[in-house]
Amino acid sequence: MPDAEPQPTMDDLEKLRDQLRYHAHRYYVLDAPEVSDAEYDVMYRQLEALEADHPGLITPDSPTQRVGYDVSALFMPVHHLEPLFSLDNAETGEDLDAWEARLERVLGRPPVGYACELKIDGLAVSLVYEQGAFVRGATRGDGTTGEDITANLRTIEAVPLRLFGEAPELLEVRGEVYMPAAAFDELNERQIAANDRLFTNPRNAAAGSVRQKDPAMTAARKLSIWVYQIGVIRGGPDLATHTESMGYLGDLGFKVNPASQAVPHLDGVKAFVEQADKTRHARDYQTDGVVIKADALADQQQAGYTARAPRWAIAYKFPPEEQTTILRDIAINVGRTGAVTPFAVLEPVFVGGANVGMATLHNADQVKAKGVLIGDTVVVRRAGDVIPEVVGPVPSLRTGQETEWTMPAECPFCGYAIVKPEGEAVARCTGGLECPSRLQEWLAYFAGRSAMDIDGMGYKTIQLLIDRKLIAGPAGIFRLTPEDFAGIEGWGEVSVNNLMAGIEAARDRPLARLIIALGIRHVGPAAAKEFARTYRDMDRLMEATEEELSGLDGIGSKIAAAWVEWASQDENRALIEAFRAGGVRLTDPEPEGGTSDLLAGMTFVITGSLDGLTRDEAKAALEANGAKVVGSVSKKTTALLAGAAAGSKLAKAEELGVPVIDEATLERLLVEGPAVLG
Ligand code: NAD
Repeated sequence: MPDAEPQPTMDDLEKLRDQLRYHAHRYYVLDAPEVSDAEYDVMYRQLEALEADHPGLITPDSPTQRVGYDVSALFMPVHHLEPLFSLDNAETGEDLDAWEARLERVLGRPPVGYACELKIDGLAVSLVYEQGAFVRGATRGDGTTGEDITANLRTIEAVPLRLFGEAPELLEVRGEVYMPAAAFDELNERQIAANDRLFTNPRNAAAGSVRQKDPAMTAARKLSIWVYQIGVIRGGPDLATHTESMGYLGDLGFKVNPASQAVPHLDGVKAFVEQADKTRHARDYQTDGVVIKADALADQQQAGYTARAPRWAIAYKFPPEEQTTILRDIAINVGRTGAVTPFAVLEPVFVGGANVGMATLHNADQVKAKGVLIGDTVVVRRAGDVIPEVVGPVPSLRTGQETEWTMPAECPFCGYAIVKPEGEAVARCTGGLECPSRLQEWLAYFAGRSAMDIDGMGYKTIQLLIDRKLIAGPAGIFRLTPEDFAGIEGWGEVSVNNLMAGIEAARDRPLARLIIALGIRHVGPAAAKEFARTYRDMDRLMEATEEELSGLDGIGSKIAAAWVEWASQDENRALIEAFRAGGVRLTDPEPEGGTSDLLAGMTFVITGSLDGLTRDEAKAALEANGAKVVGSVSKKTTALLAGAAAGSKLAKAEELGVPVIDEATLERLLVEGPAVLG
């Protein structure tokens, strides 16, 4: 028979409670948490579960029985008119089902409908208005007593100091003060410039900013607010639903979040949650979930409250995007341009829906600005598709054993020196393509989608080819033969043939792609296309002078100089010869109908649907005659070629007095030249 589960003692529970109290104090009072919200939530749920199994061990001072935390001594205490509550949490659809079932039990029927709102990740505040004038603002504190931060809240533009229209006699509203993403980035840039500590996230930054002793400091932090609830109202209109009350607050001049939605059933709630999770990174403020409320105020009143939260509302929390873990080491990576970037080697941690063992640290200056030491407990963030990053250290957890990181003097991959030119943020490996790390990155870029697009040539294959010394540069790709793969495990006839077919197709890419693939600093896709369009031939392009190139459209002296410098180097000329020997096409075919400069210097925009030819064909015909085709109408546009159902571009052309032509005029233009336009 298995052992019975050991019964928790009062001591066990108290240990857990002490931990939670400690972390709540650091979070709510000091604005300096040591663990991630997710870690805190795990401990909290453990305590909740233990208490549910042993109700006799619940004490009134348990963190599960109270809201928030005591107020700090920095501010005057404020007794709230009505308590400010916390919210119960849900993490899954089943949790929502269970909440609805509980609500139905209390009401004796299903609720009339739900209001769904974004859960804003900031700091809860209460704002009191008497006869329409803002008289007091406070933090939530322990729910009953908060901190008086009126002077600070008055500096926030979005907090109305006087309400519009006929204001109620007394109004208490609740809202979340938050820091917009742009303000957060700006604040941290200022912190870097002042050699100050970086804020780890907008919530901590907002909480810290609103609880400044000096209101001028709060004013400088560009905070904003979304209000989400009426706490107390006297002498106002009759309101039947939460949704109505939000509309009313909007009319009074409060900032009410427009993404809210009223839905009749839980299905609608779940759809809202899914959508809100998907779009959470598209907003300029952080959301950490969705708050769902019974919409009818009568339902809310009937359902009532537990010790710490309303029964009529629940917070659905999105999966956490921040965790703390140990920074084991800082290693470096050499990119295709030789740039050396430090990255964090972490004790693996599950965050943002994935296991993360490595995270970016950007560059040496950032390592310094973030103040991370090897061995630190660090906050790691992985949000959406963004590469995981180390946000910063938790200095209070240091043991004294942590060590500072410095950029190595030599590249660990090739042994050449690493240098950092004065005034540049980026350090570089001087090993050129002898550096296997750099070579690998360059080949991956060369063969990648945006460049030569070689099917079957991913990182793994590239690594194999380098390790086996089958290639030492990009031209080597075009010398590979099936025999090179003989006897290599995993490389049967089918894979070899696929790779060969991928390489064969890449031999015939347009010239612009080859230029892009060379990865020359400053020479991006637009420049590559312009070079290819003008020269059509690599040999001619290699001989082009800086003067010729900088006369081209969109090509500045920096790009022209970069190309000429590249083309003048023997090793690069040898590279082009090696491509030629490998059968790579170095010339673009003449466009059909030949080329002319009949329309040189003219710029066209094409819009609407054409009859006799596609827009691409019209574009090619114009370009073949030396004209340029661009995407938007401006004063510089020679003419707009408009087909059926032309929309805003046509209106713009008319507004600017740009001539509008049809297909028949285009055809004449291509034969007779600019005279057609008069
Ligand atoms: P909560 O964040 O789970 O939810 C309640 C809060 O949501 C409200 O007080 C309000 O401020 C906010 N909110 C945002 N939008 C809202 C809306 N539209 N309608 C209503 N309310 C809205 O609860 P809490 O008590 O504020 O905080 C507890 C959480 O704080 C924990 O779950 C944990 O994640 C975090 N915490 C972390 C630590 C730590 O050490 N990392 C310590 C303590 C608490």
